[in-house]
Amino acid sequence: TPEDAEPILMSGPEQDYFIRQLLEGDIEMGASYWPAELIATTPAAISTRGFARELRDLILRAAERNLSPHQLSEMSKEHGEKYWQASAHFWESYLQALYLQEGSAGDAKRKIDPSQIVIEALHHLRNNPQLAAQLRARFTTILVDEFQESDPAQRKLLRELVGADLILAVDRQSAVGRFRGADPDALETELDHFRQTGREIALNECFRSAPSIFNIGSLVASHFPDPRIAKDRICGVVEPLEDQGAIAAILRSQSEEAQLIAYQFRRAHLMQNTPWSQMAVVFRAPGAQAAALRRAFIQSGIPVASEVDALSSNSTIAPFLLMAEVALGLKDLSAPICETLLLSEFGGADTISLRRLKKALLASRDETDRRSGAQMLADAIESGEVEIAGAQPVLRISNLLNRSKKVLRRRSAQGEDLLWEIWNSAETNTGEKLSESWRRQALRAGARGAAADRDLDAMMQLFESARRFADRFPFSKPESFIRQISQESILGDVITAKGQRPDVVEILTVHAAKGREWEIVAVAGLQDGAWPNLRQRGSLLGSERLVERVRHGAAPLKELDALAASGLIEDERRLLYVAVTRAKSSLILTCVKRDDQEPSIYFEEISDFLQEISGVNPTLTQVPRPLTANALVATLRAELAPAEASAGSEMDQKSALAAALLRKLADEGIEIADPSAWYGALSVSSTAPIVPPDQSVSVSPSSGESFSECGLKWFLEKSGGTDGDSTAQVLGSAIHAFSALMESDKSLTEEILVEKLTSAWNLISPERGWVRAAQLEGAVEMIRKFVTYHLSSPREVVGIEAPFTVEVGRARIRGSVDRLEVTREGDLYVIDFKTGSAIPSALKAQTNKQMQAYQLAIAEGGFSQIVESRNSAGAELVFLGSDTNKPSIRSQAPIDVAQIRAEIAEIAEGMSGSDFFAKINKNCSRCGVRASCPIQSDGRTVME
Ligand code: SF4
Repeated sequence: TPEDAEPILMSGPEQDYFIRQLLEGDIEMGASYWPAELIATTPAAISTRGFARELRDLILRAAERNLSPHQLSEMSKEHGEKYWQASAHFWESYLQALYLQEGSAGDAKRKIDPSQIVIEALHHLRNNPQLAAQLRARFTTILVDEFQESDPAQRKLLRELVGADLILAVDRQSAVGRFRGADPDALETELDHFRQTGREIALNECFRSAPSIFNIGSLVASHFPDPRIAKDRICGVVEPLEDQGAIAAILRSQSEEAQLIAYQFRRAHLMQNTPWSQMAVVFRAPGAQAAALRRAFIQSGIPVASEVDALSSNSTIAPFLLMAEVALGLKDLSAPICETLLLSEFGGADTISLRRLKKALLASRDETDRRSGAQMLADAIESGEVEIAGAQPVLRISNLLNRSKKVLRRRSAQGEDLLWEIWNSAETNTGEKLSESWRRQALRAGARGAAADRDLDAMMQLFESARRFADRFPFSKPESFIRQISQESILGDVITAKGQRPDVVEILTVHAAKGREWEIVAVAGLQDGAWPNLRQRGSLLGSERLVERVRHGAAPLKELDALAASGLIEDERRLLYVAVTRAKSSLILTCVKRDDQEPSIYFEEISDFLQEISGVNPTLTQVPRPLTANALVATLRAELAPAEASAGSEMDQKSALAAALLRKLADEGIEIADPSAWYGALSVSSTAPIVPPDQSVSVSPSSGESFSECGLKWFLEKSGGTDGDSTAQVLGSAIHAFSALMESDKSLTEEILVEKLTSAWNLISPERGWVRAAQLEGAVEMIRKFVTYHLSSPREVVGIEAPFTVEVGRARIRGSVDRLEVTREGDLYVIDFKTGSAIPSALKAQTNKQMQAYQLAIAEGGFSQIVESRNSAGAELVFLGSDTNKPSIRSQAPIDVAQIRAEIAEIAEGMSGSDFFAKINKNCSRCGVRASCPIQSDGRTVME
């Protein structure tokens, strides 16, 4: 029977995942027991991670208090709790689903959650008094550590099991497990029960840290009534740590906070030989701050292990999991997924090569092929057939995908096999195995070596998780593991989460730090609102209210909320106590103070106290220069005197010393101290023109305008310094395509055109929601304006998207005009549609280089295949994206051909040269290459 199946204990993330799967089923089936506001919204509220977590908490808290789903449902009616009835219904189906078999008959295991296992054990013992007696006779002495963290069900189980001797170890001040169901409020009642027959021994001596050390923990926990401190151990609020003591520092930003901690840790390691493994940073909760800290540590060369990330959100692991999901068919090869895979380490592409690749694919299409660049990319990966230059990333991904699919064809394949195939076959862009490349890099020192070390650790954790999953579910299919690990939002596998390298600094949450200790501990992020965090955890489903309701019965709701809030305040203070007492020798407390962030009340209490003792005023702390080779080299470089420093002057002497030290560092193997590696110190690699003098220069009509505006911007953008196509550009192309359609098919009306545009909008705009609706509205408006213009044009249209190529001196001008028209006099007239909203003045339009180039093309016979005339009657820019009802028009008079010919020849000479000059202009504020522009502060070179 299912009850006889081997039970298997679910971890927290597994339980979360399981609940989310059941909730997804409820959404699909439209389960009617959920109130409409939770299931009928888009997306459904019950589909969120937060809801699943609240539901899990409610079920666990109810189970720990020995409630049944039926009782929870009754309480819902009795106390007017809106969602408990539906939650009770869900709980019922959850319990039934726990008995269902996993994957295949061979894995007929019964899932059980951590609270259920205790409840079932309790019921089992109560129903089998003989067994209970046997156990009591067998286990005559029971020792319970951290009894303050026990929940009601565990306490009941203990009472059933107690035989002759029971020893309970209790530390009231460190009870932090309320979020897991611990019941610190009823602790005394429970202890009273055992006190009746036992005795209490108070352990007042601290054996964790040396007794002489300043213990800020007791200070915090006791609200400072009688702080026993050793004054000589306090180093002050901003001074560096000596060998023991505490500092409290206020910083201007989280990045400074991270740098200060990195500085103190590095100092302790270099000057006091404290091992990295004897240092840790403790946060109240995981978040962006841990990531900033990890970055600061990496920059400072501090090896770091982090407990706070789930494997699926680890940037090293994510592409491997994504590849596995695609191979399994759990995800399609959509444009963003293709790009993520191609940009991964095993894809080997970068944003520039990816863009080139897409362009080359589009250029290789034949005329009947209507696929988009993204679709072509996906097809190329799927088929592995692509014959364009630079397609190696596509081939690598395609090969990897094929190998993965091949493994999946094996009946016995598991998640571990699939991941191994991807990992073992992955190659870098030099053809080296990725595993070998990481191994080689990890053996090197420096930041890259440390990063490779961490990547390998993360990979080993992933394989360890896969192995354990396979051990627990030997017949499971690969998708079971991949689905589960991809959706876990917290790291639950505590066995595999341990860092593989012993000497690393740990970054962890207070809950994870409990029971451990380090020589130096930094407690970071002591911010108002973050610590204490008084936000009720189960605010929607009210798991905390349930706890108070069971304890206090029919008390009014407000009173229950107040009780829950006061419980929270005590929890938060105990959490701080646990955090600060992890330090054996030295403690660093940090917070940020700026406009939108204030220090926590806890930080204020501690720093006031430290100030009183040390006399040092806790003002904003200056972060010292990092203790790294890079920072030292930067300082020494700044001391190097400019050439004009007079010989023998103080400046000259300092400079000579700095130069000597830099030389010494370089000789000792510090590469960045060698001037040959300094940015800007090398001479120019080539002064040759970019186009040899005997070759023609390709000039597009629009590039002439861009080059005249700023030569440097034109050169950098032409060389790849642009982003991919923006939606505005794609929209511009779409509007052009639709207007061309109207010309070619005279039967098309405005309505049909708008309808076509609306139905194709999915392909044009990647946006969603109101942004997408607003963009579509704007596009429809442009189409309407185009139709108005089209119908009112007095000239005959002779060409749409009419291509031309003409040679002017060395310039080879190639392009196409949106519309070519003929006037009554037989002269040609060029129309260019614009979808942007910036409209030049009428005067500026007269010198528009793009229009001038079109007119020159007419004069040079660029359209002689369409019409004979070489006379230009002028040109017109038609702005469809303007704010007005009608298109805004800017005309250009017929050009002076000789003058424009000379100008374009000159532009071509400039474009083919070896020097490109930055020219300040009105578009500098929108310039995409500003960060590389030497005349802007953002891009100024460090070497003058
Ligand atoms: Fe040219 Fe201005 Fe861009 Fe500098 S910021 S490259 S001057 S357009």
